[in-house]
Amino acid sequence: MAQQFFSRRNLQFMLYEVLQAEDLCNYEYFQDHSRDTFELIIDTVSKLATDVMYPVFQDMDSNPPVYADGIARVHPIVRNYMQECGAGGWINPYMSYEFGGQQLPSTVYTVIGFIMGAANYSLSAYPQLTGGAANLLVNFGSKELQDLYLAPMLAGQWQGTMALTEPNAGSSLADVKTSAEDSGQGYFLIKGQKIFITGGSTDATDNTVHMMLARIKGAPSGVKGISLFLVPKFYVDEAGNLQANDIFCTGIEHKLGYKGCPACQLSMGDNGSCRGYLIGEPNKGLAYMFQMMNEERVNVGIGAASKATAAYYAALEYAQQRLQGRKINDKNPESPQIAIINHADIKRMLMFQRAISEGALALGLQVSKYIDLAKAGEESEKNELLIDFLVPIVKTYPAEMGILATSAAIQCLGGYGYCKDFPVEQYFRDVRIDPIHEGTTGIQGQDLLGRKVIMKKGRAFQLFKEELSGTINTAAEIDQLKLPAKMLEEAMIMVEQVTSHLLQTAVQGDTERFLSDASLYLEMTGILTIGWQWLLQGVAACQALNVNVSTVDKNFYQGKMLTMQYYFDYEMPRINTLCEILTRNEGFMSDVPLETFV
Ligand SMILES: Cc1cc2nc3c(=O)[nH]c(=O)nc-3n(C[C@H](O)[C@H](O)[C@H](O)COP(=O)(O)OP(=O)(O)OC[C@H]3O[C@@H](n4cnc5c(N)ncnc54)[C@H](O)[C@@H]3O)c2cc1C
Repeated sequence: MAQQFFSRRNLQFMLYEVLQAEDLCNYEYFQDHSRDTFELIIDTVSKLATDVMYPVFQDMDSNPPVYADGIARVHPIVRNYMQECGAGGWINPYMSYEFGGQQLPSTVYTVIGFIMGAANYSLSAYPQLTGGAANLLVNFGSKELQDLYLAPMLAGQWQGTMALTEPNAGSSLADVKTSAEDSGQGYFLIKGQKIFITGGSTDATDNTVHMMLARIKGAPSGVKGISLFLVPKFYVDEAGNLQANDIFCTGIEHKLGYKGCPACQLSMGDNGSCRGYLIGEPNKGLAYMFQMMNEERVNVGIGAASKATAAYYAALEYAQQRLQGRKINDKNPESPQIAIINHADIKRMLMFQRAISEGALALGLQVSKYIDLAKAGEESEKNELLIDFLVPIVKTYPAEMGILATSAAIQCLGGYGYCKDFPVEQYFRDVRIDPIHEGTTGIQGQDLLGRKVIMKKGRAFQLFKEELSGTINTAAEIDQLKLPAKMLEEAMIMVEQVTSHLLQTAVQGDTERFLSDASLYLEMTGILTIGWQWLLQGVAACQALNVNVSTVDKNFYQGKMLTMQYYFDYEMPRINTLCEILTRNEGFMSDVPLETFV
């Protein structure tokens, strides 16, 4: 195991030098916080991550959950950890005081999730899902349901889940078949099957509370007929006692990675008596669930960034210690071997990982700050549009690039990278889920190009461009940043041109052709967006370098400047190729005849 799995210095840089997170405390909602409380919280979480989570990171992978007697038996640490999270207030720190939260800015909650994910992603998923489910209950559930179910969830005694996927309804939630029939007694009778439900039934908590999508009998077909239900494993009866509900875990999946947290198959209503409690109004379930999905999409992006970060530090440590070969110019076989970090190719791979992981983290924090500003009532409409626009990007860029970054970490270790002696192969396996769950990359691409770019007559896209322009203008005033500022501006113009070109096809009404390369459009926009995030970091690093700093800090800021330069020189040019593909080959994929796949 590597000594380090994240950089506290980088988190401080991001929070206080790039985002000025302490300014959030000027808003009434966050007024009880300060930089001191943020640091205290981050100290405590870092200790939990280092002392409790990281030591079992590999053990949870080697000893995955076992299915027995209708339950997934998980690693014993999970129960302790959930209780510790409940006691420490880590399940819902961003919630209001009214519901037992700490009114902590999401920006700082994202840092908590990042540290926990870097330490042990599987373990971090249990409280995170519970917090998301609890948040749905707070925002849309009745007071009665809140009174019965919220407190044990937030105490870490009951697990929360999101139960959407069915055997024939994965990407296409319009096809959800699980049914709900009003019993006339204050609950619905649920019948159906769900698959891949994370944390769906485990021995780590005493109960499981599913936030489940189902269709009320007689409801319209498609997404307009989906409702949201709270379906507990044990429901609270009229006398306040827990009773077993008619919902069973029928098995768990055997996965490539992310093994410490089970994906469960669930069967509801086999005996005709599965109770589900309606949340909010009938047929509005998908709209409610989108709240949790959007939160989880940001969390997935941060989770991918955290795994790529931990892999980077493992690769860096190895590269500093491993002796192999000599400088290319040194032809003397008697001279001592050098650490592989001296080789340019290793430096390039480390730089690549850092550019991806720190760029992805920066975007996750940026989106979290928009969430905080919207919550505080600061230009809420603008900030919400920016969040909507950026959600597919903040989820997908880290997820897809996290695979390449963790693969580069393996490559830095050579043969040992491929073996279990070192953790990088696990990071590579663990991160592979991220382009799949919470909406695949294909679906995120369609969301960005087919919905977000055109929504509100292009207003969100316009706001996004204004954010970039603001940074470009600031950077253009700083000598060292004139060139990357110009490159970002040119890339933005290219992306605008491709967008206009594609929108012409949309206007002609051929949506199939319009969206046929939506994933590539998302990739291109992702590269642009992370370029913006690196330029922002460049501005903060330049400002810091212009005052007297210690040697350690100087190395840190110069490292930032070099990584930014790497990003603009090696990553941004990929936009040119994507622009060319998107303008030249439009519709090609939708036109390929199926019979030619031989
Ligand atoms: C480890 C794990 C944990 C999970 N946790 C949960 C959970 O807690 N709760 C939950 O509800 N679900 C969960 N899921 C399910 C996950 O959200 C789905 O797997 C995902 O949404 C994809 O659905 P699918 O597997 O049915 O694939 P499909 O929908 O069959 O997709 C297969 C491929 O086809 C593509 N595709 C499908 N439709 C289209 C289209 N219209 N246009 C273009 N391409 C398309 C997809 O992009 C994908 O590449 C989990 C899955 C895994 C593997």
